[in-house]
Amino acid sequence: MNRTLVVIGHGMVGHRLVEEVRERDPEQHWRIVVLGEEPSPAYDRVGLSAYMTEATAEELMLTGQEVHRDERVRLRTGVGAERVDPRTSTVLTTAGESIHYDALVLATGSRPFVPPVEGAELPGCHVYRTLDDLDGIRAASEAGAEGVVVGGGLLGLEAADALRKLGMRPHVVEFAPRLMPVQVDEGGGAVLGRLVGELGIEVHTGAAVDSVREGTHGGVSAVSLTDGTVIDTDLLVFSAGIRPRDDLAESAGLERGQRGGFLVDNSCRTGSAGVWAIGECAAVEGRCHGLVAPGYQMASAVADQLTGRGDTEFGGADEATKLKLVGVDVAGFGDAHGRSDGALEVTYANNAAGTYAKLVLDDDASTLLGGVLVGDAETYGTLRPLVGKPLPAAPEQLLFPDAGGGGGTGALPEDATVCSCHNVSKADIAGVISSGQAEDVAGIKSCTKAGTGCGSCVPMLKSLLDEAGVVTSNALCEHFPQSRSELFEIVRATGVKSFSELISRYGTGRGCDICKPAVASILAGLSDAHILDEEQATLQDTNDRFLANMQRNGTYSVVPRVPAGEITPDKLITLGQVATEFGLYTKITGGQRVDMFGARVEQLPEIWRRLVDAGFESGHAYGKALRTVKSCVGTDWCRYGVQDSVSMAIRLELRYRGLRAPHKIKAGVSGCARECAEARSKDFGVIATEKGWNLYVGGNGGFDPRHSGLLASDLDDERLVVLLDRFLMFYVRTAERLQRTAGWIESFDNGVEHVRAVVVDDVLGIASDLEDAMARHISDYTDEWAAVLEDREKLSRFVSFVNAPEAPDPTIEFTEERGQIRPAPIDLPTPVVERDREFSSEEVSA
Ligand SMILES: Cc1cc2nc3c(=O)[nH]c(=O)nc-3n(C[C@H](O)[C@H](O)[C@H](O)COP(=O)(O)OP(=O)(O)OC[C@H]3O[C@@H](n4cnc5c(N)ncnc54)[C@H](O)[C@@H]3O)c2cc1C
Ligand code: SF4
Repeated sequence: MNRTLVVIGHGMVGHRLVEEVRERDPEQHWRIVVLGEEPSPAYDRVGLSAYMTEATAEELMLTGQEVHRDERVRLRTGVGAERVDPRTSTVLTTAGESIHYDALVLATGSRPFVPPVEGAELPGCHVYRTLDDLDGIRAASEAGAEGVVVGGGLLGLEAADALRKLGMRPHVVEFAPRLMPVQVDEGGGAVLGRLVGELGIEVHTGAAVDSVREGTHGGVSAVSLTDGTVIDTDLLVFSAGIRPRDDLAESAGLERGQRGGFLVDNSCRTGSAGVWAIGECAAVEGRCHGLVAPGYQMASAVADQLTGRGDTEFGGADEATKLKLVGVDVAGFGDAHGRSDGALEVTYANNAAGTYAKLVLDDDASTLLGGVLVGDAETYGTLRPLVGKPLPAAPEQLLFPDAGGGGGTGALPEDATVCSCHNVSKADIAGVISSGQAEDVAGIKSCTKAGTGCGSCVPMLKSLLDEAGVVTSNALCEHFPQSRSELFEIVRATGVKSFSELISRYGTGRGCDICKPAVASILAGLSDAHILDEEQATLQDTNDRFLANMQRNGTYSVVPRVPAGEITPDKLITLGQVATEFGLYTKITGGQRVDMFGARVEQLPEIWRRLVDAGFESGHAYGKALRTVKSCVGTDWCRYGVQDSVSMAIRLELRYRGLRAPHKIKAGVSGCARECAEARSKDFGVIATEKGWNLYVGGNGGFDPRHSGLLASDLDDERLVVLLDRFLMFYVRTAERLQRTAGWIESFDNGVEHVRAVVVDDVLGIASDLEDAMARHISDYTDEWAAVLEDREKLSRFVSFVNAPEAPDPTIEFTEERGQIRPAPIDLPTPVVERDREFSSEEVSA
């Protein structure tokens, strides 16, 4: 390492540059110093709105944060650059240090523009750019109160939606005659205004903020608009555009673009040798770009230059944008307003359906120049890469490929950019598919990075796989050619009651570790027999066979059900007494229960007996079944609560306890949008609203953490339960083995929309069947621990040695740590963790 690269700004683009240089500099010529003025390292600003109610700051952190452990990189968060002196090649930091550079890259981003209106500096006025900004807005928000967003562009609408999710009544004030005036034309704007209004956001177009009034408390009390409207509010969010952060230009003697920004050439070089600018702060040949994809392209071009790969230029920007607002599909791309000479427009509007689509073509209608989609932006993925290319099919076929015609990914030329965040072409993706490197979407993502940015191209990755004829086998295993869902239907239709009958009639061989537990789960789900009845017992995974989780040293955990985490002091005392008496290690789990570890197999029945007598039952911490329904304290105790989340969580946990499924199911209920139960990271999450409950589905933690998607809003208690009955039964019946709800939902062409159509709108006419099946499950439920205690034959299996039932396993040893037992160190190989397998006891029982 003999040269120093200083990067000013650790935002999305600065971070990308560091990543690209690290990747392309294996000989480690560069030592990299990054100055980041924000307190946290780079995060996904594009996904920032999710931070308001759905995602944590950690979840938004960008991948590749291993920079912290890379000795080549010194990341200084919370430290800004104050001055740059190109004559001495030094940067002076806000911490008073002077850092010498051999190369300097400015990646300082933008700042929100606040129009010069009277009162704009009052407490209560916010901007929408950083995690801190959103923390401030969240803290100042008040459910039920009015909030005003100034600016009806992409960010303004996101900000208004964020206020709505916080329970506020948002207003959007837009100076132009329509919302999103940059991306959307008049026709699209009219449809957009209606869709946004239906979300409960009040839109004031053709009006500007005249003044912000001060209240007696010294903060904002009202906003008056130029059209005479006065809105009483103490919260105002300015989202009226951005300005490049080019303040360092002064000290460095760097030239600015006409509208601000560090002036750079097409290679992102400033006029000063060894100094580049990239991202939103760069005025490339005079023009700034306010999106992340062009910033990433600039980062890539500069990384090439720094690592000796030639004078790569910034190849121009893809300015296409898509609004990220649930229920409001809007996309604009290319020359959306038809400003090119001789441009022709093809427009389709369906007022009844609330959709609008426009394609802009060149003067002989052969090349696509741009377009606008409102209300339904499904074709955005295939249309955007066609901009500037000859039309492969008639415009109506491109807009409505389902109606028959030549749309879809097949229509894209090989050089079309499918993933604009990572600049991946259709040919790149086809290459990894045809070479066998990628067999599914996950494979494409890891080989090419496509789909790992904003995610809007993921549906295209799926259809490219389909078009390449990649068929993923659904066979459960070598013994059954059917998928799990097909076997479920077979068992249901034929009434087959045992694994041996099923395999002899519909499979081959004697079964394996994959099909046996999967079939056992299906049989358990469709009959009221005990999970350990007769042949069933031999099919189960070890955990299910002993109704407990086996731990590293061959002992078991005991995790009784504690619905919603609500527990009486007497019951708590019982847990303590049982743990003391049997010498168990205890731990509170992340799912509001008490884990008790270290039970020997022969101790399990006696422990259960004590627990069952005290009113506990099995918490199914071992099974592919419902685990916990986590809850906050809701209206019982919390001053923010708008619904009784505890009662609802208890009701749901008791209703679905024991439900066997393709994978474990976790759930949460939060008493308001603050989401203390973290319900959106669960298979189903229920979040209280002023009017009832919002139901989210398909979230999970683990290897691939996901946030759930909204299935239905403002439900009353009864409707919520009905929809959940249908949702869970639909999942249990149709998902594949070890498929969690997230993967199952993604397996449908329209994802959560398809699930909504089946579960909420009952398009398949199976809703009552699903409800009946759940009713049967509920009426058949019995506690599995209690049932074992009543059955001598089953009890006899809980021994370490069949020929010496009283003898404990002598190989099990414990040591002591922090006043409790822990397994004595044994030489175990590091477990190889399969993505979909249960693995750690903490994960299992949480
Ligand atoms: C809510 C929201 C939604 C968005 N949605 C989209 C979208 O859907 N699609 C899209 O393409 N784009 C979107 N964007 C824009 C996108 O986030 C930006 O284009 C992108 O973040 C720009 O990256 P950057 O690194 O240039 O700037 P930034 O990410 O802003 O990073 C610049 C960093 O530099 C730091 N800095 C500034 N001056 C100094 C200094 N002197 N010393 C040290 N550090 C300094 C700043 O504090 C900041 O952390 C959105 C932005 C927001 C706010
Ligand atoms: S989620 Fe629950 S605990 Fe959190 S603020 Fe809302 S009601 Fe209170």
